[in-house]
Amino acid sequence: MQRGREEYIRKGDGCVYYPDELIEEVRMKNDIVDVISGYVKLQKKGANYFGLCPFHNEKSPSFSVSSGKQMYYCFGCGAGGNVLTFVMEYENYTFQEALQMLADRAGVTLPKIEYGKEARARQNTGQGFWR
Ligand SMILES: [Zn+2]
Repeated sequence: MQRGREEYIRKGDGCVYYPDELIEEVRMKNDIVDVISGYVKLQKKGANYFGLCPFHNEKSPSFSVSSGKQMYYCFGCGAGGNVLTFVMEYENYTFQEALQMLADRAGVTLPKIEYGKEARARQNTGQGFWR
């Protein structure tokens, strides 16, 4: 299904989903090595970066970050994901909070779909999407 940039789906728990291409844009503009370096001391080893895992206690680095894949993976505890997952796990953010933080960091403006004027305007058009 093709979704427009402005469109979103609202789940029962109040989560708001942004269009995939917007999420992709935020993800691409935040280099994972750059972001994780702000939290974890990383050392380059070959093609990847290694550091002490922030998700479990360890003395030798088994937490790896791949610049090429833009993914992280911990060989010790199995934690892994992309830059958004990292921020969510590390900061204990929801997906939306993590996306907002990374969007701010990269200077990407997210549509204010929850509380903005447009949202209320759309509600008044009787699309019934808001109830
Ligand atoms: Zn770990």
